[in-house]
Amino acid sequence: MRLVLLGAPGAGKGTQAKRIASKYNIAHISTGDLLRDEVKKNTQLGIRANEYMEQGTLVPDELIIEMIKRILENDSSKTGFLMDGFPRTLNQAEKFDKMLKGLGLSIDKVINLHVDEEKLVKRLAARRVCQSCNKIFSLANYDGSPEICPYCGGKLYKRKDDQEDVIKQRLKVYEKQTKPLIDYYKKNGLLDDVDGDGSEDKVMERILSVI
Ligand code: ADP
Ligand code: ZN
Repeated sequence: MRLVLLGAPGAGKGTQAKRIASKYNIAHISTGDLLRDEVKKNTQLGIRANEYMEQGTLVPDELIIEMIKRILENDSSKTGFLMDGFPRTLNQAEKFDKMLKGLGLSIDKVINLHVDEEKLVKRLAARRVCQSCNKIFSLANYDGSPEICPYCGGKLYKRKDDQEDVIKQRLKVYEKQTKPLIDYYKKNGLLDDVDGDGSEDKVMERILSVI
């Protein structure tokens, strides 16, 4: 199965993507995670990408396309994948279609996770990530320590781009560059809208009902 998950920053793509990918036993491909990994390893790609990521703007399409190409050639995505955070521009979507066509593959479904803007800002500001197990969660309605992961005891951190000024920039970029993808995939008849408000389990249930 080959899926694409669309949604604004903070819509819950990462959280749901992990669950869907493990349920269907397909590769979870998060361009944001891959880029953060490159940044951590201080690779050439990481150094270039970091400039954009810190400001909340998009990493240039060529770099992203290059990265996706390498992944699609890799065996691990042959059985299927869930794209999380890609494509993010019309140009990326068109290049992706071409790439898949060349491999004799196609997208089965695009899921658009929808959440109100006001809620997105709140979620992003309260978001923390575990340094050890990578679990994402929210400090809103959470009584435990804001520094220690309740699952593995690892240290929690706030992503650099989850600072308020960068959050606003990312939402602007989403409106302008990524939102047009909704229509692009609607025209192809591939898109299903899913309400991203509510508990993780509830949202997961809604997603499963459209797959
Ligand atoms: P979010 O969806 O919460 O903004 P991501 O982890 O998906 O977070 O992305 C973080 C940053 O990585 C983005 O703000 C952008 O700079 C970069 N990035 C991730 N995916 C792409 C992509 N497909 N194209 C361009 N830039 C990307
Ligand atoms: Zn953890």
